[in-house]
Amino acid sequence: MRYLTVDLFEDFQCIAGACPNSCCIGWKIPVEKNIFKEMQRHEEELGISAAGWLKKEDGEYYSVILDGQRCPMLTRENLCQVVLRLGPEYLSRTCSLFPRSFNQYGGVVERYLSASCPEVISMLMDKDVIEFSVSEDLEPEPEYAHMQLYQFESAVRAGLVSMLQEFPQIALNARLFASFMILQKAVGMYQEHRLDIPAIQLEIAACLDERNLYALEEKLNGSVDENARFRLLSQLPALANEFALTGRFEGQVQRAVRYFAEVDRARYLSDVEAFKKSCCLPYHAFYSNYWVYRIFADTLSIPDYEKSKEKMIYIGMKFAMFQSIALAGFAEHGRLDRTEYLSIISSLSRETENNAYFRHLLAARIRDNHLVSAAGLLLLIVT
Ligand code: SF4
Repeated sequence: MRYLTVDLFEDFQCIAGACPNSCCIGWKIPVEKNIFKEMQRHEEELGISAAGWLKKEDGEYYSVILDGQRCPMLTRENLCQVVLRLGPEYLSRTCSLFPRSFNQYGGVVERYLSASCPEVISMLMDKDVIEFSVSEDLEPEPEYAHMQLYQFESAVRAGLVSMLQEFPQIALNARLFASFMILQKAVGMYQEHRLDIPAIQLEIAACLDERNLYALEEKLNGSVDENARFRLLSQLPALANEFALTGRFEGQVQRAVRYFAEVDRARYLSDVEAFKKSCCLPYHAFYSNYWVYRIFADTLSIPDYEKSKEKMIYIGMKFAMFQSIALAGFAEHGRLDRTEYLSIISSLSRETENNAYFRHLLAARIRDNHLVSAAGLLLLIVT
C-alpha cells in the first residue's frame, strides 16, 4: 500500500489542557462496545458507573452523555481522566485518532489532520510551506474502480498546489482565480470522458506562467467592488447565526452580525484596511498553507468530479466566513490575537463538520448562487 501524507500528520501532538477549543467539548463522541465494557470494569478507578456517562446507541456503539457541552471525563484543567487514571490505550477509537484522518483510494491512503483542531491551524500558521511525502509498505493494494480518475484528480491537485506554493509574491486571490480556471478545464475534460493526464499537465504549465499571473493580478485588482465585498461579508455571519452554534463561537458570530448591522461605510472601509495591514499581512504564508491543505484534504471528488468545483467554492465560502467573523473581532479591539483567530477558524470547521444541515445549506446557497458567483467569491475574500 502507498501512503500520501501531509507533513503535519507526522508532527502533530495534542496540547490537551492548553487547547483553546478542546474536541472534548460540544461534540458527540462515539465509543465502541468493548470500551464500554472496559469502563464498566474500571468504574471504581474512574469514580463513576459506565452507564452514568455512556449511553447505548444503535448497533454496537455507545456515546458520551455530555455534561452541558463537556465530556464528563474532562477535568477542570481540560485533561482526560480516562488517560490520567487508566492510560491512553483505554480511549475510544474516535478519541485516540482525532484529529487524524484517512482516505483510501485503491492502493493509496491519504493521511491528513482535521482542521477542527486548533493545534492543526496553529501548525499551519507556523509553517513556511506544507510538504507531502510518499511512502510504501508491504500491504497488498486492493483493486479500485476509479484509479484512473484518482490519478487524474491527483495530477490536477498537484497543479493547484504548485500554483499556490510557487508564487507567494502574487496576490492569493489571483492564485485562487487561476487555480479555479485549472479546475474548470479539468472538469471539462472529465465531462468529455478524457482523463488525459499529459494534456491537463500542459494546461497547468501554461497557467503557471509568472507573467500571465502578474497580468491576471493587475486585472483582478481593478475589479474588486467594495460594496459587493461588504454585501458578501455581512451575509455570512448572519447565515452562520441561523444555526444552533456552540460555546464561544456563538458569541463570536453574534458579535459579527451586530458589527455588520451597525457599521457605517466609512468605518467599515477603514476597518478592512487596518485588518488587512495589521492582521492579514502577518498571516500571508498561513493563508497559502490553509488553501493548500484544504485543496489536498477536500477537493478530491470521486466518482463525481463535477463536485470538485463546488468543493473549492465551499472552501472559499468558509474562508470568507471566518474572515468576516475575524474582521468584527478585530474591529472591536483594534487587534486580533492569535488564540482568538485559532478559535474562530477551528470552530467554524468544527460546526461545518459536525452539523450536516449547516454544511448542506451553505452548499445549497452556493449552488443556487444566492450569495455570489465563484469568480466573485474568490475575488472578494479578504486577505
Ligand atoms: S482539539 Fe486538538 S489539541 Fe485540542 S484537545 Fe482535541 S486533539 Fe488536542
